[in-house]
Amino acid sequence: MTTLGTATAAPGEQAVGRLPVGEARDGSEVSLPVCVVNGERDGKTLYVQAVSDGDELNGLGVVQQLVPRLDPTQIAGEIRIVGIANWYGFQIAEHRNPIDDTKLNRAYPGDENGTASERIAAATFSAAVDADLALDMHQGSTSRMIDEVRVRCGRRHRLHRDCLDLAKTFDAGHVLDQKGPDGQLARALPDEGVPVIDPELGGSVGWDEESIRLGVRGTMNVLTAYGFLDGNVTAGEQTRAGSFDQYGSPAGGLVDFHVELGDEVSRGDTLFEVTDAFGTVKETVTADGDGLFWRSRRLPQIATGEYVCSVGTDIDQY
Ligand SMILES: [Zn+2]
Repeated sequence: MTTLGTATAAPGEQAVGRLPVGEARDGSEVSLPVCVVNGERDGKTLYVQAVSDGDELNGLGVVQQLVPRLDPTQIAGEIRIVGIANWYGFQIAEHRNPIDDTKLNRAYPGDENGTASERIAAATFSAAVDADLALDMHQGSTSRMIDEVRVRCGRRHRLHRDCLDLAKTFDAGHVLDQKGPDGQLARALPDEGVPVIDPELGGSVGWDEESIRLGVRGTMNVLTAYGFLDGNVTAGEQTRAGSFDQYGSPAGGLVDFHVELGDEVSRGDTLFEVTDAFGTVKETVTADGDGLFWRSRRLPQIATGEYVCSVGTDIDQY
C-alpha cells in the first residue's frame, strides 16, 4: 500500500484524495488535491508538486495530462503528486498565499504548528522527504520566460551532480544552475538526500500548451530514465546559465524590445527602448554583458526603476 493524505493505492493501482493542511476562516477543512500511483513492480519513488505559486498553472496542466497516461500495472515504483500546493493563492489566482502574504517556496521545510504557508510546506515536505527524486513545477509567473529547469542546491552541494543529471534528463534545453534562496523546496530536499529540480515551464497567464507539452515530455523522460517506465531516453545538450543580469527601466514610458526570448545577446546590443506616449524614444538600454535573453515583462508600460527583463549569464553547455 502507498498512502498520501486520504489517497491509498495497492500495487498496480492509483488513487486520488486530499492532503489536509488546516482550516479556512469559516472552519471548513483545507486540503490539497493529491494522487498516488503505486506501480505493480518495486522501484524508486518520485514526488511531483505543482502550483507552489498560486498563479503558475502550467505545472497543473502537466499533472492533468500526465496522470491519465500512467498505467500502474506497467510501472515500477511509486509516484506521489500534489496537484495544487498553494491552495489559498490558487483560489484567487495570486502568486502568494493571501492568508500570510507568503511565497510558499520560501517556507520549506515548513512547520506543522506554524503559519498557513509553513503548514502546507510541512505537509508537502513530509510527502517528499523519503522520495528518491522530486520535481517542483514552476514557471516565470505571468511574465514571459523561456522554458528552463532550475538547480537550486548550489554547486558545492553533495547532491549537485545528481540534481544536474536530473535537469538534463528532463531536457527543457536550458538550465539555471544557481543556489536559490533559503526556504525553497529545491534547497531543503537535497539536504535530506533527495535530488530535486524546479522545471520552469515558460511564463503565461493561464495555460501555455507548448510549455505544458514540454513538461509532460520532461516528466516522462524522468520516469523512463529512472526506471519507472520501460525504455530508454537520450537527453540533449543543455545550455546552462549560472546567473542573471536584471534590467530595470531608466525612465517611465512604454518598453519596446529589440530581442526575442532565447536570443543570444552580446555586450552593447540594444535590449529595449523606452518611448513616450507619442512614440519619441527617451532611452535606449543595452546589454551589460554577453548572455541569453531569458525573461521579460508582459505589459509594456513601465515606471522608472521598474523590472523590464533578465539576461542569463555565465553561459556554458553540458
Ligand atoms: Zn514559481
